[in-house]
Amino acid sequence: MAFNLNSLVKENILKLAPYSSARDEFSGDAKVFLDANENSFGSPLNRNYNRYPDPHQKQLKKKLATIKNVEANQIFLGNGSDECIDLLYRCFCKSGVDNVIICPPTYGMYEVSANINEVDLKRVDLDENFQLRLAEIENAIDANTKLIWICSPNNPSGNLLNEADIKTLLSKFSGIVVVDEAYIDFTNSVSFNQYLSQYPNLVVMQTFSKAWGLAGLRLGMAFASMEIIAIMDKVKPPYNINQVTQELALQALENENQMLEMQSEIVTLRQSLAETLLQLPMVDTVYPSDANFLLVKVKDPAGLYQFLIDKGLVVRDRHKVILCDGCLRITIGTLSENEELINLMHEASI
Ligand SMILES: *Cc1c(COP(=O)(O)O)cnc(C)c1O
Repeated sequence: MAFNLNSLVKENILKLAPYSSARDEFSGDAKVFLDANENSFGSPLNRNYNRYPDPHQKQLKKKLATIKNVEANQIFLGNGSDECIDLLYRCFCKSGVDNVIICPPTYGMYEVSANINEVDLKRVDLDENFQLRLAEIENAIDANTKLIWICSPNNPSGNLLNEADIKTLLSKFSGIVVVDEAYIDFTNSVSFNQYLSQYPNLVVMQTFSKAWGLAGLRLGMAFASMEIIAIMDKVKPPYNINQVTQELALQALENENQMLEMQSEIVTLRQSLAETLLQLPMVDTVYPSDANFLLVKVKDPAGLYQFLIDKGLVVRDRHKVILCDGCLRITIGTLSENEELINLMHEASI
């Protein structure tokens, strides 16, 4: 395959002169800042947020670079992964002309974002083991296919996709392969980050919303070649990551050990919850999971879903999703939350 980044990028983006912020035009130290129309007096809070945040999130990226073993200029930070997803469409997909491929059942935002950006979507369903059907994907690719969305571990099935399959796509496809690794911290497998230098068409996405326990901050990461990151930087809103998020994320990264403890506890509880669920007569299948949730096939998904809601416990009903007949998606909770779920399921069966 011949990968030519400039031929993939939308023409208007290639030509775009990005907004130059006050902090772009002067980023050194000064005694007095009267350049950004901020309020020099402060904020009506215990702490001041009257200054615009670093548009390039330099400190945060520097720390992340060491943790993720990439260069700082291979990192893009978004207001949640959702912003990264949207930006990839806006950088690479011409409305009404280009198309992307998704592999259902998978994360809903790839499709919603395609619709918002008026980009055609081709669906190549996963096989019955929730793995990629490579030949069908290759058949679906045409001259206007810009992105292929791969979610691994996949949501809602929970499994990792075969690494060799993703590599095959990366080497055969001349567009961009996005590997969404939102759940990578719950696996034993290593990130596709390690292949960034090998594949110029690889974009890896991760998030602070799952293992890091920071869904409320809205912070998503994309890793790619510095050339791809530079294009995303050009298109993003200048101050897309706010001051509070930058500060708290940096603090969290200093406490990586706490994240690792939660992560290993969640993985342990995943195993025990799966075993307990399997003993319930109403449970047909608990699919193997590399994530912080279980896809569970039950006898009466809609009935159980409603019963649980009536008792104040909410899971995700996926029984109408392709290949997920009869399935609920259940997030791994704390030990007592998981026990409550099991107790209620016992109650539901009598
Ligand atoms: C939860 C999740 C994300 C995270 O999205 P954020 O916008 O970063 O919270 C991304 N991708 C998948 C597949 C997810 O399940």
